Amino acid sequence: MPTHTTIEVPNFGKVEVPVGLFIDNEWVESSDKKTFSTVNPATGKPFVDFAHATKEDVDTAVKSSRKAFKSTWGNNVPATERAALLFKFADLMERDSAKLGALESLNSGKGVRIARDFDVGDSVAALRYFAGLADKTHGQTLNHFGNEKFVYTLHQPIGVCGQIIPWNYPLMMWAWKVGPALAAGCTVVMKPSELTPMTALVMCDLAKEAGFPAGVINTLPGLGATTGDAISRHMDIDKVAFTGSVITGRRISIAAAESNLKKVTLELGGKSPSLIFDTANVEEAAAWVAMGVWFNSGQDCTASSRVYVQEGIYDKFIAALKVNAEKCAIGQPSDETTSFGPLISQTQRDKVLAYIDSGREEGARVVTGGKKWDKSDGGFWVEPTILAETNIKMKVVQEEIFGPVIVASKFSTEEEAIDLANNTVYGLAASIFTNDARQQTRVSTAIDAGTIWCNQYGILHPSVPFGGYKHSGIGRELGTYGLEAYQQVKAVHQNLTQTM
Ligand code: NAD
Repeated sequence: MPTHTTIEVPNFGKVEVPVGLFIDNEWVESSDKKTFSTVNPATGKPFVDFAHATKEDVDTAVKSSRKAFKSTWGNNVPATERAALLFKFADLMERDSAKLGALESLNSGKGVRIARDFDVGDSVAALRYFAGLADKTHGQTLNHFGNEKFVYTLHQPIGVCGQIIPWNYPLMMWAWKVGPALAAGCTVVMKPSELTPMTALVMCDLAKEAGFPAGVINTLPGLGATTGDAISRHMDIDKVAFTGSVITGRRISIAAAESNLKKVTLELGGKSPSLIFDTANVEEAAAWVAMGVWFNSGQDCTASSRVYVQEGIYDKFIAALKVNAEKCAIGQPSDETTSFGPLISQTQRDKVLAYIDSGREEGARVVTGGKKWDKSDGGFWVEPTILAETNIKMKVVQEEIFGPVIVASKFSTEEEAIDLANNTVYGLAASIFTNDARQQTRVSTAIDAGTIWCNQYGILHPSVPFGGYKHSGIGRELGTYGLEAYQQVKAVHQNLTQTM
């Protein structure tokens, strides 16, 4: 099987793209020559076949990453040099943002403008942030043991890191993982989602062009149960960083524990609540919540998927949210004006429709949406959907739908709102809309979630830590916490005396 193929990309014409494995700065085919196929979510038709990395390929990649870690990367390279390469990498990514955006849009179904300006733009920003942070991390000197004894700490890179990412933000999840790992001095064995491997592979050519030594970024397309599992169980991988579902996160934790007790960080699912108090500006709150739930067609781990509205403004809020739902720019991914594309796969589409049916059966009212988009043809669109008059016993309220569906109900007191917000196993994000600053502070403190947005939704920045409480994850990405997740601390005890 060839390691490259030529595809037709809207507005670009024919483009040669990599479909092989990237190991030791070379494109190779899979050791057993097997491939897996992908589907264009906007048409339902076959997209591209990619090489499927075997356990042996994982092993080859790990050996290459280990060698690089010991010789051409890690502590062998000053942080300023690693930073310089990362800045160059970001510049190349920015140079190619139109092409990367078009490929991301084609593979994942998101609108091309969003893919280019948001997904690629934010990925460039994340690489630059971590490039800037690379030489600003250092240990401590502890000199409170008398004149002749002291301890210093070293922040050292963890080593070879497996990174396993999902399909909803293929490039952004790639950047959130690769950026801090390389800045810290780790080497990477990356496995993109089997649904969206395209752009992570294109980034390998840019890594080579930027000048990263062989083995610093190895990339292995493949399935979860095979390639992903081989990474999680590998005895010479020091850490695995994962973003995806709770069920897979649990499997990876078990595999890591059963193998070499590698370190694990997990960014998992969510069922994020928005609380709308009666002092809030209803129109503004509805616009933020709409953006929060329908951005990326609802395929967002922080999606504003539950809304609780204080009883006096409930009807007004639902009416305003409906207006926003019906304003979503549903369309073809290649159209610059599209902000709401298809769901990633038929499986995902059918799962979302089944959740909507279950909500109906359990007594929820469908305010708008609730079905396939009528211009879907073979694509996987589901309309922006509001399910109102829901209650905490319903499946649609407890489980992550990962589609364009928001469930809504009323509350009367602040205490009740907090209880409702905390009433799922998840704790990724939440939002609070109120004009009472004291209430913002009280409620922010009381909600179990890694991110709280007050009078806004969905704002992220590379300098701000991101991660979950409860079943939503372990550890943090982004910010200084995100870099520290790729470092370990060594304490060195110095004794300058000759005596014990
Ligand atoms: P998924 O868990 O099915 O797959 C994620 C990745 O894990 C893929 O690369 C897949 O191949 C791999 N994988 C699957 N089984 C594996 C195994 N046994 N061992 C090792 N790797 C395996 O999730 P998904 O369907 O791609 O993504 C959707 C989920 O991800 C949602 O639940 C969503 O909430 C979550 N998500 C969370 C965040 C976050 O930051 N918290 C971000 C995006 C998505």
